[in-house]
Amino acid sequence: RMQNQTNCTVFFNPEMQVAVLNRLQLESDLELGLENQEFQIYYQPIYSLQNRYLAGFEALVRWQHPSRGLIPPSEFIPLTEETGLIIPLGEWVLRESCRQFSQWQNEFPDQFPLSLSVNLSGLQILNSDFSGLIDNIIQSNPLEGFNLKLEITESILMENPEIVTQYMSQFKLRKIQLAIDDFGTGYSCLSYLQSLPLDTLKIDRSFVINISSNPKSLDIIKTLITLAHSLNLDVVAEGVETEEQVAILKDLGCEYGQGYCFSPPIDANTVTQLFQKNSYG
Ligand code: C2E
Ligand code: CA
Ligand code: CA
Ligand code: CA
Repeated sequence: RMQNQTNCTVFFNPEMQVAVLNRLQLESDLELGLENQEFQIYYQPIYSLQNRYLAGFEALVRWQHPSRGLIPPSEFIPLTEETGLIIPLGEWVLRESCRQFSQWQNEFPDQFPLSLSVNLSGLQILNSDFSGLIDNIIQSNPLEGFNLKLEITESILMENPEIVTQYMSQFKLRKIQLAIDDFGTGYSCLSYLQSLPLDTLKIDRSFVINISSNPKSLDIIKTLITLAHSLNLDVVAEGVETEEQVAILKDLGCEYGQGYCFSPPIDANTVTQLFQKNSYG
């Protein structure tokens, strides 16, 4: 009996029930949200560390939920990956950010060239339509004044090296660049890194966070930058929050930085205002 009671208590644990209901609710909200265009793209500036010019933006999706407010991607991207909804959502992010960039390029040609970085999830590249999607997007938004850079995480790359290699020739033909995201957080096979024609390596924020206080962190980031350069890759440091970190990274020859020290991710209207200020100011 006691045993039974314990089991029942666990099974009907109200907190668990709430969590399950929440998840189911969120799942159906996500589908509706896509239909109702509740998703928004924020853009985070990426700066040249050597010369402090604006080099481009990373597109980061957010969900403007009708009752819960602005929801960060960490709270819904994993769910969209489990349900497959990442395929239409990811397609929308690519199309919308490319459309927006074409528009900015027409309105503010003096601010370009700039690069647009877009995150891809594993399911997207495994989807058989991905190749056609890329062609289709480029047809409707000629990528003349900006470089499209696709970001895939180190783990996705290492789990699907053949598929990524297959896309490479198509990408090169279309002048699309490829960046390894969150570098250092997964397991990388260095021979793959050497054989794939990658362009950029993004060092995860966790390696940047302590570089001004911890000599070991400094050694590690030095090694990562040296590794990237020996593979002929440009380096973007993520999560750069202080001028001290900027100075250290600049000294180590790191090309680009992204983080709150420069700017948080901002919505499209704020980017437009930034361009207006830079054009006429
Ligand atoms: P990520 O690709 O590593 O993106 C960088 C994240 O770091 C962003 O979080 C950004 O807001 C945050 N960040 C930038 N600078 C700083 C800083 O100085 N300090 C700190 N503490 N954080 C900083 P966000 O926007 O919440 O995105 C989280 C993750 O969600 C992204 O990590 C990416 O993996 C994923 N994600 C976002 N948008 C998309 C998308 O369209 N598709 C896919 N598949 N994943 C996406
Ligand atoms: Ca990224
Ligand atoms: Ca990243
Ligand atoms: Ca990261």
